Amino acid sequence: MKDSMTVRLAEARPSRVVLNFTHHCALRCEWCYVPFETPRAEREIVVAIVERIATLEFRSLTLGGGDPFQYPFVPDVIRRAKGLGLNVHVDTHGRSFMPSAVNAKLATDYFDLVGLPLDGPTATVHDSIRTLPGHFDLVLRRLAWLKSLGVRVKLNTMVSQKNAAHLPELAQLVCHLSPWRWSIYQFWPLGPAHRVLNAYEIERGAFDCLAGEAAKHVRTNKLTVVEISDQLSRRATYPLVHHDGSVFAHSVSDPNSFSRVCSIFDVEARELIDDYC
Ligand code: SF4
Repeated sequence: MKDSMTVRLAEARPSRVVLNFTHHCALRCEWCYVPFETPRAEREIVVAIVERIATLEFRSLTLGGGDPFQYPFVPDVIRRAKGLGLNVHVDTHGRSFMPSAVNAKLATDYFDLVGLPLDGPTATVHDSIRTLPGHFDLVLRRLAWLKSLGVRVKLNTMVSQKNAAHLPELAQLVCHLSPWRWSIYQFWPLGPAHRVLNAYEIERGAFDCLAGEAAKHVRTNKLTVVEISDQLSRRATYPLVHHDGSVFAHSVSDPNSFSRVCSIFDVEARELIDDYC
């Protein structure tokens, strides 16, 4: 039988893994933290990573950027993850996730949660941050489609100097759209995002104040859960696995960089990850 200390340590272990596809993304958000520098993802390796994540007793898997649906094999990966008992959260920019009958079934049968980005209350603001004309309208169409299917949708907003002044108006829109959850993130100059620090950084006090007001407004719809995440609250709470199996965590010495921890396939991977996160 485990003693109480062992139980506490087990509960403190990270339960979630973020699996990022680090070869390419169709969008070019200049504040993106993903280092796009690896070869294309391979189906067998990604499936093996997911199986390894389940073996290591993680409970949740977030499939994130670059967009998972750039790879035709990703639906099989999602089905495998769900079959292994993982809670499956998919983050997508929506471009490659078309509203087809096949994708509708995938979403309703296998997604626990899907995340879509929304960084401004208008196409002008959002599209300039996402550097893709028409993306604001696309996100709203995907949200309406997924909601019509009964799929839980989380809208993700990254708050920076670029959109902070628009947050009150965005809160009104989110209140109206009433997603299942709204996550408001403080810009974090992490990894490659450090190159745009001066143009994007928002001070913690200003972020807390704006995000708090936005959350208060949206909660009046009594439908949407609002989650506010500043940089510190996200640091070292989960490992990031690249599609080649490399595991990274937020660096202990430098808050704005990653450290390579191990390969997910290493014999001691879980212990090494637990030491970091
Ligand atoms: S859509 Fe996501 S993964 Fe792609 S560039 Fe933008 S932030 Fe990065």
